[in-house]
Amino acid sequence: IDIMNWRKIEMTERTLAIVKPDGVNQKKVGEIIRRIERKGYDIIAIKMLQADEKLLRQHYAELVGRPFFPGLLKYMMENEVVAMVVEGDNVVKGWRTLMGTTNPTEATPGTIRGDFGRDWPGDEVRNVVHGSDTPENAEREIKLWFPELKR
Ligand code: GDP
Ligand code: MG
Repeated sequence: IDIMNWRKIEMTERTLAIVKPDGVNQKKVGEIIRRIERKGYDIIAIKMLQADEKLLRQHYAELVGRPFFPGLLKYMMENEVVAMVVEGDNVVKGWRTLMGTTNPTEATPGTIRGDFGRDWPGDEVRNVVHGSDTPENAEREIKLWFPELKR
């Protein structure tokens, strides 16, 4: 392969993107997919599913002991979510830029969380979307949510 193709392969990453229950409820799935595609990323797998406690405890393993974890579980199981494997150059960081910061109040307008996120009474953070924070976590999360994905 020539050097330009090699560089491209080197930079291409995958990330796990999830439209959380509040995003599905607010009918923002299409808008979110539009933003992903407008940025030039490829959606290489997508499904709607009801997350269960076992999956979420593995997914959010580092947060299990936090005071807000029971509320997070309840929020993430409120209704179905849309999970996607998204591919592109530096997509882990790029998707987090499209999402905006964790706290919807602080998230920049124009980002998904800035536009559609809500801080809820009782310290609930309803921030519409999930994105892996590192390429290593992305690989781990993709295996967890898409065990059937063979490539
Ligand atoms: P993210 O990577 O930006 O989603 O943030 P984290 O990995 O730190 O947290 C995962 C998810 O847990 C967040 O998206 C929120 O839904 C929730 N969360 C994080 N921190 C808090 C908090 O302090 N309070 C509450 N209620 N929820 C939180
Ligand atoms: Mg995180």
